Amino acid sequence: MSRILIRGGRLIDPSEGLDCIQDILIDKGKIKAIGQNLFEMEAIELNAENLIVCPSFIDLHTHLREPGQEYKEDIASGSKCAVAGGFTLLISMPNTIPAVDSPQVASYIIQRAKSVGLCKVLPSGAITMGRKGKELTDFLALKEAGCVALTDDGSPLMDSKLMELALKRASQLDMLIMNHCEDDKLANGAINSGVVSSLIGLSTRPKSAEDVLVARDCVLSFYTGGRLHIQHLSSPLSAEIIDFFKSKGAPITCEVNPYHLLFSEEELFLSGANAKLNPPLRDKKDIEILLNALRAGIIDCIATDHAPHAIREKSRLDSAMPGMIGLQLALPLCLKLVEDGHISMSKLVELLSIAPSRVLKLKDPPKLKVGAKANITIFDPKREWILNEFTSFSKSKNTPLWGKTLKGKVIFTIYEGRIVYSDV
Ligand SMILES: [Zn+2]
Ligand SMILES: [Zn+2]
Repeated sequence: MSRILIRGGRLIDPSEGLDCIQDILIDKGKIKAIGQNLFEMEAIELNAENLIVCPSFIDLHTHLREPGQEYKEDIASGSKCAVAGGFTLLISMPNTIPAVDSPQVASYIIQRAKSVGLCKVLPSGAITMGRKGKELTDFLALKEAGCVALTDDGSPLMDSKLMELALKRASQLDMLIMNHCEDDKLANGAINSGVVSSLIGLSTRPKSAEDVLVARDCVLSFYTGGRLHIQHLSSPLSAEIIDFFKSKGAPITCEVNPYHLLFSEEELFLSGANAKLNPPLRDKKDIEILLNALRAGIIDCIATDHAPHAIREKSRLDSAMPGMIGLQLALPLCLKLVEDGHISMSKLVELLSIAPSRVLKLKDPPKLKVGAKANITIFDPKREWILNEFTSFSKSKNTPLWGKTLKGKVIFTIYEGRIVYSDV
């Protein structure tokens, strides 16, 4: 394994209190030295002047679509998107075909990702068999196969008794329960309940649908002590509920999708079905409150909910599959939050790397520290680029940002001491 010398970058790692211009030397997959004017005869030198060097990103919410829907994405194309977006660890969602409700499917995903070799993929297992919400999966078997978390994402787990049992069992095994919180009776439509829905007359998924289930899950986490992670938070009241239960000591964390912070429901007029996701885009006032919750630490981290779909599945707003691709877009979207003064650059690194590693309780999180595994992302916050057929690694194109000019680009991604992505 070759040595790598990262020269002259701005090193940012809030977990180490680091924000300075220095060099990093990588040897045998680990960080060997951090300092000024490092020298190493046989190293590959990466010029990081005017670039930001930080612990690599972790995505708690990726749909890789393999097995079963490889026409949308597969583990190879998803891994390429990941490293081009600065991610070296993905938590894949279990709504594959078949669902990840058995150790065999979990092992298949881990093995496929290993053979692709670009980044690590840890599967989340389904909470219930076939994600049908009726019968719990074998949590221990899924954990032994390598699942780090459990969720029926795409479908909320509606049965409260089953959720209580899931939280209890998961806490005995120190596993994380994640839930897509939208009551399926209240959320039976396509878009947010608001000005846009009343103008175009589509059925809705109101914030109340999210709030009801977030509240229930927080209550159950509080009583059982089971670790709960709320997926893709979009409702301001849900943030308040989470804040309340966190203050009571309940082991709750939550994520937000960057699209929910940067796009309001009016985007539907511009992008149609490509702006449809679950939970749906909300209104501008909601975004403001979510940004406050993000700054206040009520929302723990950013997760992409990378959800590729074929063009034919995005043809009509009412019947379109929900979701957007996001792995290559998370960085430019978050940099827009920095540029607009909502968060600092250090907070961006916290939200994309440090905080998700804490949610997962990773034993060896990405860190800019001597002795740590070299999992490092190097990006140019100012580089402009366009997401199109030549730059996107996804098999799908479902995003309002397709063909748009973006600001902020990953230049190198280093995974366990290997350069797995480079754009120079
Ligand atoms: Zn979901
Ligand atoms: Zn999802």
